[in-house]
Amino acid sequence: MDLQLLDSTLADQPAFRARQVWRWASQGAQSYDAMTDLPAALRAKLAEEVPFSTLELVREAHASDGTVKALFHTKDGRAVEAVLMRYKDGRRSICVSSQSGCPLTCTFCATGKMKFGRNLTASEILDQVLHFRRIEPVNHLVFMGMGEPMMNLDNVLEVCRKLPDVGITHRRTGISTVGWVPGIKRLTESDMPIRLALSLHAPEEDLRSQIMPVNERYSMQEVLDACEAFYEKKRRMVFIEYVMLAGVNDGYAQAVKLAQVLDPKIYKLNLIPYNPTDSIYDGSSRNAIEAFKAALEEHGLSATVRLTRGRDIDAACGQLAAKTPMPASAASS
Ligand code: SAH
Repeated sequence: MDLQLLDSTLADQPAFRARQVWRWASQGAQSYDAMTDLPAALRAKLAEEVPFSTLELVREAHASDGTVKALFHTKDGRAVEAVLMRYKDGRRSICVSSQSGCPLTCTFCATGKMKFGRNLTASEILDQVLHFRRIEPVNHLVFMGMGEPMMNLDNVLEVCRKLPDVGITHRRTGISTVGWVPGIKRLTESDMPIRLALSLHAPEEDLRSQIMPVNERYSMQEVLDACEAFYEKKRRMVFIEYVMLAGVNDGYAQAVKLAQVLDPKIYKLNLIPYNPTDSIYDGSSRNAIEAFKAALEEHGLSATVRLTRGRDIDAACGQLAAKTPMPASAASS
């Protein structure tokens, strides 16, 4: 729902009306019609003038493990994907996109190969959340879908302010970044206790630059300094994501190096099995991942291995890149 359009449409109404609408929407109302404490005429006017969602659902896929992936189009035909993950302990975690496509070109990532579209508006990000909220209550969220959230941080933070109304506290909200230093600094200054995750993927500068060209812009050292400042200020540990690429970043010496670089007081390391996309890489085998983990532990750094969810519907990490053709209007722009 375009919240600005909602405000301007309700300009001649008492101020509490917009809040009333948002309360219903944030609690999973299926339509304006469900908002029974609004006058019927006003509901009709809203249905006419303010589309219930800024996104159109194009496709929804359900994986055998309960994961749901939704593909949407924005009004101007941009593709947006979001995922709902359901865990046995009751956690319901949403992974949202902050951009359509991504301007960065991480060599292993499917989204990085798509043509960059644009930043999503705050309403377009929220509508991904509300879509899943209409299915069931949700309680965790990560900005780990398409795009680099730190390059769209105004809108991302605006969304974060509203998430508690939907049932997702700031402590259960995480922003994942390639290491966009100005964004990390802004998050450090923010009053919201949001979690920070860093996609590191290499234990040293040269290899990181090869895998993630953005490392040429913000070096690994600068990025880790910014993460440490985040930890000092917030006293919240930083999550490190490390995608396991066979023969590239999964060797014994690389584990040793990584354990030297990452202070276990500050960082929690998450090893991510690589989800095959159309790339030059193969994922490390189960055994290679276990050996890497053992080598880390031998050198004082513990790590967890991320559970892969929704692989059978291309909903796993790094697989978000819409496969349906774009409408002609968006493809040509
Ligand atoms: N741009 C941000 C947000 C995207 S998060 C970032 O990079 O952190 C997506 C996460 O999935 C990142 O950690 C990314 O490195 C990882 N990823 C990308 N492609 C992947 C793949 N094919 N398999 C597993 N993880 C992947």
